[in-house]
Amino acid sequence: MTVTPEIGVIGLGTMGANLALNIAEAGHPIAVFNRTPEKTFAFAESAGALSERIVPTESLEAFVAALASPRRILLMVPAGDAVEEQIAALRPLLDAGDILIDGGNSDWQDSTRRHAELGRDGLHFLGLGVSGGAEGARHGPSMMAGGSERAYEAVAPILRDIAARFDGEPCVAYLGSGGAGHFVKTVHNGIEYADMQMIAEVYGLMRDGQGRAMPDMAGVFARWNAGPLESYLIEITVEVLGTSDPETGKPILSVIADRAGQKGTGRWTVMDAQRRAAPLPAVEAAVTARVLSGEGAWRSKGAQLFPDPAAGAIGPLSDEQLEQALLAGKILAYSQGFALLAKAAREEEWSMSLPDVARIWRAGCIIRSGLLDDMATALESAEMDLLAFAPAFSERLTQTLPALRATVAAATLSGLPAPALSSALGHFDLLRQARGTADLIQGLRDRFGAHGFERLDRPGEPGQHGPWTGT
Ligand code: NAP
Repeated sequence: MTVTPEIGVIGLGTMGANLALNIAEAGHPIAVFNRTPEKTFAFAESAGALSERIVPTESLEAFVAALASPRRILLMVPAGDAVEEQIAALRPLLDAGDILIDGGNSDWQDSTRRHAELGRDGLHFLGLGVSGGAEGARHGPSMMAGGSERAYEAVAPILRDIAARFDGEPCVAYLGSGGAGHFVKTVHNGIEYADMQMIAEVYGLMRDGQGRAMPDMAGVFARWNAGPLESYLIEITVEVLGTSDPETGKPILSVIADRAGQKGTGRWTVMDAQRRAAPLPAVEAAVTARVLSGEGAWRSKGAQLFPDPAAGAIGPLSDEQLEQALLAGKILAYSQGFALLAKAAREEEWSMSLPDVARIWRAGCIIRSGLLDDMATALESAEMDLLAFAPAFSERLTQTLPALRATVAAATLSGLPAPALSSALGHFDLLRQARGTADLIQGLRDRFGAHGFERLDRPGEPGQHGPWTGT
């Protein structure tokens, strides 16, 4: 049977192959191309019944020629040079009106540049953040689109067919021009760092502060997964805590080295947040914790020089307090993340709405959770773009903050690290202090550098100075 592909995928690695199968299964004929032709044909052959809708091609020219016009091409190759090279190779083969979609984890600023550059040749560019890993790509990812709105409209029917669904709604949306989609994907990953770090901190308090066994902790997280913390990350925490190493029979976590990997999206999020003066301390703490996890020599020496002052002394904290602390920390981390998105959208003139972002994260992506549905509703009316101030969440925070304070205090007194939980709390306490301590900062700046300050009794008149006399 001859089919005319509606879309083509370049790059048949983990993500490209699974997305191609997902697209074919949704009923859309698809052309595929990989730089190694053996891989292309082996992929098509292994697709079983779906191979009827899959057209393998052995050259880029054949791939482009196979596609219906305007062509819709999804790149699933590594971000950076590979995307650049692939676009350069495709460009002379394409016609005005064709659509190029980059579905990798590209830097959002590269996507902004590509949108503008390709637009000059009449080509439409879409930067598509895809989350959900291999399983999501195969059965329903969450997708964050940015770039040409016309291109989005042209591919939206296919994207909606392959996306994850929450209450029947597809988890894909157009979020603004240029690199908006990749920016939102980056912030998603930053929030994922904070979410995972907070879970790991609570695990650390239970393991090292309460001396609890893995199966016991797996049971606790399983109970939490039936409540407001219900989420994919808690669900897989239960699985990881409850798994045994087939080689030794020990809990798998007792044989995994405590050095966390990272590919950079957390760091990108933090750097962008600092540049925009929209700090994300919970994500910063998570990135820092991953970096320090790799500094084994420092940590061994530190453990020797400064033995734990009160190991195992965290006893009085109940499971309910830990659950509430985790919930409060999570709300604060997400509140910081959404505030960054709001600021970036204003500065970059992106059309995204925060409730839409929360909605497309409800299913398919790594941070998916029931709480995101409530967040989408709350963000419709959040004051000053702060989720923490939206009534439904300010009430939850009022209920859970005492447990977060007790947890951070207990961790601090027993010398157990909880940097993401405590920095989220510190940031929040600054936010809820009507009269802060920056008066002293301003006094000092004026004293040493004549930087000037504003007086409370003369608002709107900066550049006032103190009666300092020293040198
Ligand atoms: P992958 O399994 O390593 O596959 C990469 C694909 O790109 C392979 O088909 C490879 O071809 C091809 N490729 C590599 N360098 C190339 C080049 N210079 N020119 C042309 N083709 C090239 O990677 P992946 O996990 O599918 O990831 C693809 C993109 O999706 C990345 O940007 C990644 O960050 C992003 N992503 C990944 C995940 C995930 O969970 N894996 C989730 C979301 C987003 P060969 O087979 O010939 O090497």
